[in-house]
Amino acid sequence: MSAESTVLLTTSCPTCGEIDAPLSSVVLRVCEEAETSTCVITCGTCHERFEKPADDNMTLLLVTLGVDVSVWSLEPVADRHDELGPLTFTELDAFRDLLSDEARITEGLASL
Ligand SMILES: [Zn+2]
Repeated sequence: MSAESTVLLTTSCPTCGEIDAPLSSVVLRVCEEAETSTCVITCGTCHERFEKPADDNMTLLLVTLGVDVSVWSLEPVADRHDELGPLTFTELDAFRDLLSDEARITEGLASL
């Protein structure tokens, strides 16, 4: 990537003060319920991660520029799966198997 095509986000690191963060160091965290988003920025100088609130315009801009977006939810998982009934021991066992299946986890992470 040439210097000209690198988009820098000017922001301030709590440790270093004003920095120019390349978009590759920015992740946008979007909450499904709340109307707010947060930018998680990794400082290229001190490598600390810090968060900045992002308003609608900022969110739109970052998404348009192609930053990584991470969507999360406030809603407790239990509320979403009421219709499935309580967890059974069989399901817990299956879950434990999944957790010990490293290849599967790696594959899951790669598809994020
Ligand atoms: Zn810093």
